[in-house]
Amino acid sequence: MNAFNRAISTPITSSAAFFYENSQEAEDIFSGNCPNPLYSRMGNPTSSELEQRLSFLENGIGAVATSSGMGAITMVLMSLCSSDDEIIAIGGLFGGTYALMTQTLPRFGIKTKFLSVDDLDNIESSITTKTKVIFCESVGNPSLRLPDLEAIGKIATKHNIAFVVDNTVTPIIVKPFEYGADVVVYSTTKIISGNSSALGGVAIFKEVKDHDKFNTARYEFLAPFILKLKGKALIGCAKKRSLRDFGMSANPHSSYQTLLGLETLELRNNRINTSCEIVAKVLKSEGLNVNHPSLDDNIDKELYNKNYSEGTGSMITIDMGTQEKAYKFLDSSKLLTITANIGDSRTLGLHMASTIYQDFTTKEREFLGITDGLIRLSIGLEKPQDIIDDLVNCYEQSK
Ligand SMILES: *Cc1c(COP(=O)(O)O)cnc(C)c1O
Repeated sequence: MNAFNRAISTPITSSAAFFYENSQEAEDIFSGNCPNPLYSRMGNPTSSELEQRLSFLENGIGAVATSSGMGAITMVLMSLCSSDDEIIAIGGLFGGTYALMTQTLPRFGIKTKFLSVDDLDNIESSITTKTKVIFCESVGNPSLRLPDLEAIGKIATKHNIAFVVDNTVTPIIVKPFEYGADVVVYSTTKIISGNSSALGGVAIFKEVKDHDKFNTARYEFLAPFILKLKGKALIGCAKKRSLRDFGMSANPHSSYQTLLGLETLELRNNRINTSCEIVAKVLKSEGLNVNHPSLDDNIDKELYNKNYSEGTGSMITIDMGTQEKAYKFLDSSKLLTITANIGDSRTLGLHMASTIYQDFTTKEREFLGITDGLIRLSIGLEKPQDIIDDLVNCYEQSK
């Protein structure tokens, strides 16, 4: 015990490498029989603290922190899929994830079938012997469509297929493991760190049990990991089949900032989710074409009440009808920050079609729910009335 060990705020271990006590310890660290750090690409003490806390929050067996949310998604998919394998993706996806699945993974022979959240009947008929992952987001970004996680989880369990959920927008609120997910991924860049100060991601894993879906021919490559690591097989698989070679490793400075954010996540979550409901309701009554699952006429209101009683995260969308009106709306604001991020302490806004979805075809935009006048807002910590006053003024200016 030294003075550093008594720190209440997690120390930042800014070291790429770590010394080994002697040659035998070096061997043991490399074989996994000694838990001391090996090298920061494979794990860092500050990032490890973040991994443990996030895993605890999610009730996982462990976690791997990564350099970004895309890093976490890539790590998981590249560890579970090989050339010729298939992914089934359900619902609208974050632009980066969609691009990964439509442009990059196909270059490595990994194909994705896309289904809408209303297409649950087609999941089973889309499964083949090559399907390795069923993937969805807890809330469609920016469609705000809600997947029936319970129904999808049941299908994944019945067919013994890994179910990966991107829970970036609903940490704490949605618990994907309770619906049968095997891996939960986050971009911690968003509401977990909460103020645009740190890029980061994490994958949290469920325990692999004897005779479960991962002990099947479909996941033959997992057998050596199960033999050696038992319940923690998925973690070893992610590290050795992906992180070690692709190097999407978390940086301890970002992990520290993410840990700071995590301390206030619950408070910010509550504030933002409450504000979203209030703002959406008032804007609608003012005549704006608002989309939020809490609104009475929303297509997913029933699922909202059932699985999302604490909210669907910081997003609200407004369809202004045309790009011109959307630009006028955004550019009249005195409160909004125009940016591509979500989950910040400030309220953010962005016109979708001309930015993130600029390069997408009309058909792709349609599938993802991107209309010409669509604005995505991410509600922040400001007083809800201040947000409403500003947005109502933007609406007046855009007329
Ligand atoms: C932002 C985001 C990502 C990607 O995270 P980065 O940290 O930007 O790499 C993935 N999924 C969702 C739902 C996101 O909002």
